[in-house]
Amino acid sequence: MSEKIFLCSICNINSGTCKEDCKFCSQSVRYKADIDRYKQKPIKNIQEEAVAARDAGALGFCLVTADKGLNDKTVTFVCEVAEAVQKVAPELRLIACNGTATLDQLLTLKSAGIKAYNHNLETSETFYPQICTTHPWSERYETCQNVNKAGMVLITGGIFGLGETQEDRVSMLESLASLKPTSVPINFYHHNEALQLQPNPLSVEEALDLVKLTRKMLPDAQRIMVAGGRELMFGDRQNEIFAAGANSIVIGNYLTTAGREMNKDLEMLASLGLDVATSVTG
Ligand code: SF4
Repeated sequence: MSEKIFLCSICNINSGTCKEDCKFCSQSVRYKADIDRYKQKPIKNIQEEAVAARDAGALGFCLVTADKGLNDKTVTFVCEVAEAVQKVAPELRLIACNGTATLDQLLTLKSAGIKAYNHNLETSETFYPQICTTHPWSERYETCQNVNKAGMVLITGGIFGLGETQEDRVSMLESLASLKPTSVPINFYHHNEALQLQPNPLSVEEALDLVKLTRKMLPDAQRIMVAGGRELMFGDRQNEIFAAGANSIVIGNYLTTAGREMNKDLEMLASLGLDVATSVTG
């Protein structure tokens, strides 16, 4: 595992317009969560966010859309955004996170300069019907297989704290390992009152054990990323995620919740003697 910490910034280029029913997701229109909703973020704003992320030390910049999957219009928009970002911040590794995707759609994104695709399995195949009824887990798994077939960098992970059992967590990690991802983002459920799920029941100790378990079960993944829910889950013990096996974090805001200021994360890494990665191979 690299000792340098890979920083990634996420940009919701479209927000809050998804018709699916994932019970943990405030971007679903079904739950009427109090979040920003828009079809397409102006390209100029996206470019500004990309430059700010790069200047703060991010290597990855992830273009996220809120929908079940790609369609022709979304593919066109994501490609336009990718080209615009490369003009202002060519150093960034472009990642797309746009839901289920066919091999052809992924190859189109790849040809626009997108190197990696993120699609999470979210939870175990068995538990999944309890958190989503509008599309099957198998479509998520197949999209990840398509990413590998497209020769793109596969980023896939999941979310803990939805009410799943430990057996479900192990099962999800086994499924993730079978896909041989380069990066594994793990999220911790951040409760929103508009959602039907109970708040995340995990303790900090349990969450740290899950970071360790993820590292243990995916020894070949180049990066274990603690993504959404980090601040809420770990509070003033965020610095412990690195000793537990994480070597990547999201900096700046998440999709619908605020992260802490980027400089606070940089200060945390400096205080731990951890360097920020300045190049990426995988
Ligand atoms: S498909 Fe994605 S954006 Fe839509 S509700 Fe599920 S997790 Fe949220």
